[in-house]
Amino acid sequence: MGLMDGKRGIIFGVANDKSIAWGVAQQLHAAGAELAFTYLNEALEKRVRPLAGSLGSTIILPCDVGSDDDIAAVFKELEQQWGTIDFVVHAVAFAKREELKNPFHQTSRDGFALALDVSAYSLVAMTHYALPLMPDGGSIVTMSYLGAVMAVPGYSVMGVAKAALEASVRYLSAELGVQKVRVNAVSAGPIKTLAASGVGNFNKKLRTMEERSPLRRTVTQEEVGKATLYLLSDLSSGVTGEVHYVDGGFNISAE
Ligand code: NAD
Repeated sequence: MGLMDGKRGIIFGVANDKSIAWGVAQQLHAAGAELAFTYLNEALEKRVRPLAGSLGSTIILPCDVGSDDDIAAVFKELEQQWGTIDFVVHAVAFAKREELKNPFHQTSRDGFALALDVSAYSLVAMTHYALPLMPDGGSIVTMSYLGAVMAVPGYSVMGVAKAALEASVRYLSAELGVQKVRVNAVSAGPIKTLAASGVGNFNKKLRTMEERSPLRRTVTQEEVGKATLYLLSDLSSGVTGEVHYVDGGFNISAE
């Protein structure tokens, strides 16, 4: 018996086999879950389709999370094909490259709005459209980073977006607990992915983890996947509104 046998859900955020969302997908599949996937555009569709297919998934849909129509269409399709779902994985984020390169005080109004829209508001919109498909409850997990709670050099507007994302997790969980829908975040340590390549001094962040986390190493996609599996499964049935750190226990200050 797998932990997720008989459970169905959707994963937003696979871009390639380095994506955190892909690490999550592999863990969920191994635990017996049935998965649907979305992709941002045609270029990424070429990467996502074979990956999703390798896990036996047949529901693979386009979705720009900046569009309510796209999000609504995804959940409408899931309703038609599956009727109900048990979980949603939100692993998407975006900020313009220049916003992550320039000093934070130079962040443009547009760039600020775009980063918060794609990286934080999208969780609220997704939850809204997912709810009718979760009549008996469900679990929603998003991906955050330490930059939500402290000023991490080079993370800038994305840190503000992650703070909004973590606050959204608390407000959504407070409202939806009575419907047995749980909402949590995983705060992952730095992992080399497409999105991470836009973050300033990323290699230095990896080295800092190797030097100053109790485990003296960076974490893997697989480890983030396992923690997400826990939060999506009944093992975490009493957990909601939490930010669960998967970062090697990073807590040792610089000398
Ligand atoms: P990734 O580049 O593999 O994934 C980011 C995904 O966001 C991609 O699939 C991309 O297509 C998607 N995306 C961007 N804009 C979108 C839009 N408008 N509509 C739909 N999808 C859109 O990188 P990743 O590191 O796996 O990122 C996944 C999540 O994990 C992000 O929220 C990221 O902030 C978070 N995270 C990453 C790290 C890290 O070090 N890599 C650490 C902590 C948290």
